Amino acid sequence: MESDLYLRLKETDHKYLWHPFTQMQEWLEEDPLIISRSEGNYLVDTQGKRYLDGVSSLWCNLHGHVQPDISEAISRQLEKVAHSTLLGLSNIPSIQLAEKLVKITPKGLTRVFYSDAGATAVEVSLKMAFQYWQLKGNVNKIKFASLANSYHGDTLGAINVGYSKLFHHYYRPLLQDSLRLTPPHVFRFYKGMSHKESITAAGKEARNIIAANHREIAALIVEPLIQGAAGMWTHSIEYLSILRDLCRQHNILLICDEVATGFGRTGTMFACEQANIQPDLLCLAKGLTGGYLPLAATLTTEKIFSAFLAPYDEFKTFFHGHTFTGNPLGCAAALASLQIFQEQDVLARLKPILKRLKDRLDSDLSQLNHVADIRRQGFMVGLELMLDPEKKIPYAATQKIGVKVILEARKRGVILRPLGDVITLMPPLSINANELDILLNVTRDSIEAVTCQAS
Ligand SMILES: *Cc1c(COP(=O)(O)O)cnc(C)c1O
Repeated sequence: MESDLYLRLKETDHKYLWHPFTQMQEWLEEDPLIISRSEGNYLVDTQGKRYLDGVSSLWCNLHGHVQPDISEAISRQLEKVAHSTLLGLSNIPSIQLAEKLVKITPKGLTRVFYSDAGATAVEVSLKMAFQYWQLKGNVNKIKFASLANSYHGDTLGAINVGYSKLFHHYYRPLLQDSLRLTPPHVFRFYKGMSHKESITAAGKEARNIIAANHREIAALIVEPLIQGAAGMWTHSIEYLSILRDLCRQHNILLICDEVATGFGRTGTMFACEQANIQPDLLCLAKGLTGGYLPLAATLTTEKIFSAFLAPYDEFKTFFHGHTFTGNPLGCAAALASLQIFQEQDVLARLKPILKRLKDRLDSDLSQLNHVADIRRQGFMVGLELMLDPEKKIPYAATQKIGVKVILEARKRGVILRPLGDVITLMPPLSINANELDILLNVTRDSIEAVTCQAS
C-alpha cells in the first residue's frame, strides 16, 4: 500500500540520509516530501499528489520532466556506452557537444573543458586563469576579484571567490582574501539612489579597487546580470560592460559564471549576450543537460588554451580532471536539449510568457503589503519579504518567513524554495500560460496567508 511504502521510505531516509543545505535536526522532526515520478512541469509524490515544479528542480530543468526527446537520447546512448574516460581517450557525444557549445556561446570561446557540477566548472576556470598568468610569467597575479555575496558553488576554491558569511564562516581560516566589488544593488547597498546613480557609484568603486590592485588580480568572476543565490540581485547591462572594460584595460581575465543564467533563463541563450560581452572563461552547468544529468563545461579562448601548449617535459599541462569528465550520457542529454531549443524555437516561444510574468509581477504581486522588492531577469525572479517594507525592517530570522511561505505553497501544489526571506521563482522554460498563472496565484496566496498571520 502507498502509505506503508511512504512510512518505510521516511524511516529509511531519516535513518540514512544527510540532506544538503538542511538542518537535519529539523528534518528528522518532519514528514519529508518524497518524489516518486514526474510529468512535464510537475513532480509527483509517493501519495500521487502533483506539484508544479516552480524552481526547475533547483534551477536546472529546462524543457520539463520525462521530456521524450531527452529520455530517448539518453536511452540510445545507454545502449552504446554509459561511460568511458576523456583522459587519454575521446567519445562521440562529448566531441559533438563541444562543437555545438562553441557555436552557440559568445564569440572567441573556442575550447571546451568538461566537468560535472557548477562548482567544478568554476574551479576549472579559476585554475585555468591562475595557471595562465603563471605560464605567461605574470607571477604576481595570484588574487581573484568577485562581487559581494556572489555564489559560485560550495567547493573550497569556489567559496573563496563566492564567500557568503552564513554559508561559509566556519571555513574562513582556509580561505584567501578575494577582492569584493559592491554591485549596484540599490535595495541593499545604494539606498536612496536612483538606478543610474547606483551604477555610477558601483562603477567608481570597481574602478578604484581594480586600479589599485590590478597587478595582483588574475581574474574577475561574475554571475552576469543576476546574482542568483545572493537572493536574485540584479544588475544592469551597463555595469557588466563597465566590468568588462576594466578587465580589458587592466589585463585581468573575465570569468562569467553562467551556471544559473545559461540556457535561456534570462530570456537569451546566455546572459552575457545581452551586454554583448565576450568573457575569457565561461562556466556552464545546471541547465546544460536540460537538467537531466550532472554535466558541466568551462569554455575558454584560443589565447588561454595555447599558453598551455608546450613539449611534454616542460609540464605546462593543465593537470586537472574528474572521473566522469565528458560523460557520454550527459553529453547525449545536452545535445538533445540543444536540439529542442533549435527545433521548437524555445527562446521565441518564451517571449509572450515572459511578458505575462512581468505584467503579473508588476500589477499583482507587487501590491502585496510585505513584498518589499521584486527583482527579475527573464525567468529568474526574487520576491523579498519584509515586516515593514517602507522602513525596510526585516522579519526576525526566528520567524522563518520564507520557509513558511514555501510550505504554504506546497500545500497548494507548488514547489518553491526560499533564499532567506526571498521567495525565488524559476520555472522550467516549458511552463505554459496556465501553469504560470497557477505558479503566480499560489505564490501570491501563500505570501498573503503567511504574512498576514506574522505581522
Ligand atoms: C548553482 C550554482 C553554482 C554551483 O553549481 P553546482 O552544480 O551546485 O555545484 C555555481 N554558480 C552559480 C551561479 C550557481 O547558481
